[in-house]
Amino acid sequence: MKKVDPELVLELIIEILGLKNCQNSVQIHEPDFVNTNALNYLRDCIESNWVSSSGKWVDKFEKEISTFTGAPEVISITNGTDALRLAFYIMGVKPNDEVLVPSLTFVGTANAISHLGAIPHFVDIEKSTLGIDPILLNNYLENISTKSSAGVINKQTGRKISAICPVHIFGNPSDCVSIKKISDQWSIPVVEDAAEALGSFIGKTHCGLLGDIGVISFNGNKIITTGGGGALITKDKNLANKARHLSTTAKLKHPWEFFHDEIAWNDRLPNLNAALGVSQLENLKTKLALKNKLFLKYCEAFKNLSNIDILKNNLSDSVSNNWLVTLKINLKNSEDTKNFRNKLLEISHQKGILLRPIWKPLHHLPIYKNNPRDSLKVTDNIANRLVNLPSSPQLVK
Ligand SMILES: *Cc1c(COP(=O)(O)O)cnc(C)c1O
Repeated sequence: MKKVDPELVLELIIEILGLKNCQNSVQIHEPDFVNTNALNYLRDCIESNWVSSSGKWVDKFEKEISTFTGAPEVISITNGTDALRLAFYIMGVKPNDEVLVPSLTFVGTANAISHLGAIPHFVDIEKSTLGIDPILLNNYLENISTKSSAGVINKQTGRKISAICPVHIFGNPSDCVSIKKISDQWSIPVVEDAAEALGSFIGKTHCGLLGDIGVISFNGNKIITTGGGGALITKDKNLANKARHLSTTAKLKHPWEFFHDEIAWNDRLPNLNAALGVSQLENLKTKLALKNKLFLKYCEAFKNLSNIDILKNNLSDSVSNNWLVTLKINLKNSEDTKNFRNKLLEISHQKGILLRPIWKPLHHLPIYKNNPRDSLKVTDNIANRLVNLPSSPQLVK
């Protein structure tokens, strides 16, 4: 098998994407409004004066997300981080509780927990899905916790473990079927961070609907965008009603009285953003097909190489939306791996092709370095090996 150096990797990327004479920089994932109804729908909001946190586009957007994902309940929210915080709150996460979460995720996952005064507790992942490893999770719970009438208690800290938060990294389904079984045995609710996973499924179930409640993001770099935005999805009507109530200042319905029965938030998605979202949803299936094509192109170009490959989701009966295609460096030595990665990032950025490493594991950030955690061997081994490749569907020619 052939070995490649970073220069050749970059050449192959340029070739696949047809970027030889390209003057513009290429981001990892860019929005696309060409030939869409975006402007028409935004104009409708402005001309009708319905620009704020309710309106027909919000209703339409939620309905269409519901149809696409199969979620009986959809509540659109200002962004994914706020939607996660609301999900944790509704599932009963209280100040000083712990939430089990991977360290290798976007910082927003952990911040949403911290915003409630709770504590992210980092658990290890499985190296092909990059999601929480269910076997390690169960062993870890058996080692560190005890069941009591108040719930599952971390013996080391005395704090309650009040939720588990699997994340579908880069759109690759994490094994939430197994994780949900474990969570049921321990009676700990599952909040699924499906921020990156619109269009990803396990069996016929859309990611975000395998646990108790799930969150999708529509940030500018995600597969479709509302400018900024997110949504809660769930099968549970009671949870959905709570989410609607708490995201609209907990105001009781009345034509003129202001009666709020809880201290709540004001974070429903504005009509303007939802209108943009509806125009984006019209192209979602095309985007998914193009992204799959791009993923296969990368796989073909980087096959049969001894020191790198493309990360493939090997969870059975699952479909990834291929949000971000990821290059994996397979060198034994961790210094060599880091050097390869840094060189590749350096030369690609010089050419304006803005490859991106996976996030620094959160337990290496000063803000989260003292948080409770498992040994995180897989996380620490894999973090320096992963580089995201340009994955916008409009790159497919
Ligand atoms: C994007 C993202 C979020 C947060 O979504 P925002 O809409 O940007 O607030 C949370 N978790 C993961 C894994 C994400 O990729």
